[in-house]
Parts: sequence; C-alpha cells; structure tokens
Amino acid sequence: MLLQNQNSKSVRPLRVLEPNTCLSRSQIHKRKKMLLGDCRKSLAFVGRYNMEAVSVDVRQEDGKRLRLSLDKNSVSDVKEENGSVTDLDALLYVKDSENISNKAYHELSMVVPDMPRLHSVVKRAKEINVDVKIRDTPNDTVGVQQSLRDRLTNCVSNIVASGKGQAILSKQSVNVKLTGDGTELGRRKKVINFGFTILDEDLCTSVRGNYLLAMFTGNETYDNIRKALEDIVTEAKALNTLNIGGTLVHVTYFLGGDLKFLNMVCGLASCSCTYSCVWCKCPNFDRHDMSREWSLVDVQKGARTVEEISTMSNKKNKNFNCLHPPLFSFIALTRVVPDLLHLYLRVSDQLVKHLITELRTRDTIQSSVT
Ligand SMILES: [Zn+2]
Repeated sequence: MLLQNQNSKSVRPLRVLEPNTCLSRSQIHKRKKMLLGDCRKSLAFVGRYNMEAVSVDVRQEDGKRLRLSLDKNSVSDVKEENGSVTDLDALLYVKDSENISNKAYHELSMVVPDMPRLHSVVKRAKEINVDVKIRDTPNDTVGVQQSLRDRLTNCVSNIVASGKGQAILSKQSVNVKLTGDGTELGRRKKVINFGFTILDEDLCTSVRGNYLLAMFTGNETYDNIRKALEDIVTEAKALNTLNIGGTLVHVTYFLGGDLKFLNMVCGLASCSCTYSCVWCKCPNFDRHDMSREWSLVDVQKGARTVEEISTMSNKKNKNFNCLHPPLFSFIALTRVVPDLLHLYLRVSDQLVKHLITELRTRDTIQSSVT
C-alpha cells in the first residue's frame, strides 16, 4: 500500500511495513498501538471544531474491514466491522418482525458490504435468547409459556428501577391483572394469548403495558385452556409475594378478558345460557324486571362465589349453568373485571349492523316506490 503526502510538492512514497503475517503477537500488538497513535495524531485537528474522532474504518489488504476505536475508554481498540450491539439489536428486531430468513439476510449483506454479517446477527440472537426462558405448554398442548414469577419480578423491578414504582415499594403491594383472549391468525389457525398487566404501571392501558406469558393453539374451550395453563395457574396460586431488590411485595390478582373468556375460566356456560352472568345468578328472562334487586357481592341477593361455582359444577340439575370449577380459584369474583374495550366494540358492531340493515330496508322501499 502506497500513501502519498499530497501537501508536499515532491511526491514522497511512504515506507510500507511488512505484512502482519511475518510478525509475532507482541509485534502486531505494538503495531496496532502505533497505528492508533498515528490516527489520533492525524485527526487531532477535529478538536478545533469542538469534536472528537471516535473511530476510523479501514480496509486491509485481504479486504477485511476493521474499525479502530480512538476512544480511550473503549474496551477493545480494534474490532472487526460487525456493528455495535445497538445496531445489531435494531437489525435483529427488523429481521424478526418482518420475517426475514437467514438466507435472505445473508444475500442482503453480500450486496451491502456495510451491513453486519449474518454470523454476528445469529450470535447476538443466541445471546439474547439465553435471558429469555421459553418452555412448552404442558399436557401435550401446542404452545409456549414463560415463568410467571420470573416475568413478574423482572417487570416490577424494571418499573421500580425507572423511578415510577415508588407506590409499589411504599405500599409493598402490586396489583396484577391476568388476562387472556382467543384470536384467529389465519384460516383455521386459532391461537389463545394469555398475559398479565401491572395495574400500578402508567403503561397499563397501552399495548406496551401488556406482557405476554403464554401462547397456544386450539379452540377457546375450558379444557384446552385448563390443560395449557396448568403450570401458570399452579405458579400463580403459590406466588403471593415478589422479592424486589430485597423488599417483599405482596401480589393482588385480578382477572380480565372478554365475557366469553371470563365465563369460560370461571367455569360457567357460554354467554347465551340462562344464567350467564359471572357475578350473580340473575336469569336472562328476569333481566328486564327492575323491581328485583341483584348484587355482585351480597350472597343473599344472588351473588355468586368461587366456592359456590365449584360445588354447583358437580350437580347435574339446578346448577345455574356452573359446568366446571373456576380455573383461577384463588381470585375472588369481585376482582374479575370485564374488558370495557370488548364491550364497546361489540356494542358498536351491533349498532353499525342495525344501521346498515335499516339503510338497506329503506333503500329497497324507495326503489320499489320510484
Ligand atoms: Zn349479574
């Protein structure tokens, strides 16, 4: 490699050093130090612009790119150009969220030489995966799950570390809503998501405040949910306190979801049955009767309890549509909360449907008249 000093009138070739392959380890190290010294010296002028050179990219004779770090606090002075951890994480995020295969990524990185190589992206993915412990759901169900204790401890610790969890620490209590919902990913591809929300967190009403715990395929039925969530239910039942940096925090559970999910996990028949209310035993033919009084909490006024549902589920007759023992028997029915969004969407759907039907009817009448 010949470098020319362009400022001097007479072009003087620089002396080219012998290749690294002819040198011992200590000599290579010495040379790197020399190279870094030369780079720092040459780039000292950027200080005049109140800036600081932090790295220099070079290409070696064999075509390999190297990044020389001029930052004195840097752990490593020389590293192969594979991108910083932040760059790799961002790339990995795009690669995974857009379903880009390893093969496609490799082809892309061949076209764009500045992109980190596939092997470094795969290595970073493995590093991240070590911290994420994902297991199969039990009882031959097809799905994956994480430990409730680990995720909850991790999330609450993060909230406390961000300075927004003072209320949790001062009250030594955290409100956690367990929630689930079935969804259709494609034709005949039904998936049930189960997660939790920390109600003391500012983000609890946004998507980012919903933490996924388990995901499994199958229909939204009591048996399927019971089998797949067996580990999580057992874990939640035993998990009453969390250890957050030495402070014991009491966990209060709530149960959320749409009415279909709530009826199912509470052991009741579907929402169209006679006694479909999760909280009381008001039959559907008595709902219009405003003279009768029903209560969510007062057993004398027809309120249900978890214990009552369990007992009644064994009966064949007069069981008030109790079919199974409630899955989350440790959560009282007073802490079972329906999702308002689902109610709102369903009501809106029905109103829009009626509006369209009405418009169609009027159109037909008009067209028959004219
Ligand atoms: Zn009711």
